[in-house]
Amino acid sequence: MENSLEFAQQLDRTDPLQSFRKRFYIPERNGKPLIYFCGNSLGLQPQTARLALDQELVIWQQHGVEGWFEGENPWLSIHQRCKKPLAQIAGANPSEVCPMNNLTVNLHLLLTSFYQPTPNRSRILTIGGDFPSDQYALESHIRNRGLNPDETLLEVFPRPNEHTWRTEDILTAIEQHQNSLALVLMSGLHYYTGQVFDMAAIAQKAHEIGVPVGFDLAHAVGNVPLKLHDWGVDFAFWCSYKYLNSGPGGVSGVFIHEKHHGSNLPRLAGWWGYDEARRFEMTKGFVPMPGADGWQLSTPPVLAMAVHEAALAITAEAGMEELRRKSELLTGFLADGLQETATVEIITPPNTAERGCQLSLRIKTGGKTVFNHLTGQGIIGDWREPDCIRLAPVPLYNTFEEVWRVGQAFADFTS
Ligand SMILES: *Cc1c(COP(=O)(O)O)cnc(C)c1O
Repeated sequence: MENSLEFAQQLDRTDPLQSFRKRFYIPERNGKPLIYFCGNSLGLQPQTARLALDQELVIWQQHGVEGWFEGENPWLSIHQRCKKPLAQIAGANPSEVCPMNNLTVNLHLLLTSFYQPTPNRSRILTIGGDFPSDQYALESHIRNRGLNPDETLLEVFPRPNEHTWRTEDILTAIEQHQNSLALVLMSGLHYYTGQVFDMAAIAQKAHEIGVPVGFDLAHAVGNVPLKLHDWGVDFAFWCSYKYLNSGPGGVSGVFIHEKHHGSNLPRLAGWWGYDEARRFEMTKGFVPMPGADGWQLSTPPVLAMAVHEAALAITAEAGMEELRRKSELLTGFLADGLQETATVEIITPPNTAERGCQLSLRIKTGGKTVFNHLTGQGIIGDWREPDCIRLAPVPLYNTFEEVWRVGQAFADFTS
């Protein structure tokens, strides 16, 4: 690829996904669109979000409680309408996925089901420096079972002087601790470095030693292709406000593999997980819905779910395959344009199979100054302590020209 404005504009003109940008509101400053490379933190607003929300507000206004049962799209089945696109995006069967709750809540629910320590096998293998909410959730589950997190958590770190993990180190750790492990749980795509893990290989190794495996897909869903069913992943969960563009604090989703649907896993139950056909008989004794739906707890947040449904339709229409194709080019173009210098080091793996949209840049000196320079130029990335700028060009709404401009902003600064 040639690092020029003309070449970038040429790529935009021939981009089969170019029309999708028009379906999003691009934030502006002083009447000029910002270069928004922060979809890894909060995806942009689809223009259909407001329509979807307004539609439900009108139904609530005009029909009150009848909205649950009446009309073309009754609220009672709103989660059903999200399952087909979610299944497509996650590489799952519709019965294996369900939108519900928020991410950390779902992590707790799934740990209750899948973390079954015994006196001999009680340890959880994870990666060191995973997202803090995940660390706190694991720590609290371990304590709640009367165990000590320092002895029970097994954290795999990158090697000295390396920023990312080697798959072989994770696989070796699983094998080495095969007699003491109860669970493997980690991110599928690491939030700080942008590294994508080999989920298929990790799942296979965990299963060889008879241990379930779960993935946090907050940064993976809608970003990289997933085949959760075929990989045999036992469970997974994600949020919808990053690459799924479903709005701040939007509904989370879970995946529970079919092989567990008939099993008697322990769970924390609520009435929304009760067998739908008989939920309103309000009888004693919990009878779960089969599949992922049986993990639901509460009345769904219809307004948030309506936005989620509208946003999912866009990702499903573009298709993960097309999105990934563009994403690899877009992020590759960014990596080429940034050019590592004495001050900037890209810590995200260089090979496309090990990364999604995001590049994480380690700024060796004066990182905050570089970040402020970008912000001043209307480039929105984010800053992560102690020295990291994360930039995520998103194939649904970012352009090659924007990527080129970001490269130029760095060139201004470092030359
Ligand atoms: C964004 C993110 C979260 C956020 O959890 P919430 O419960 O939605 O606040 C959790 N884990 C990872 C890995 C994330 O990237």
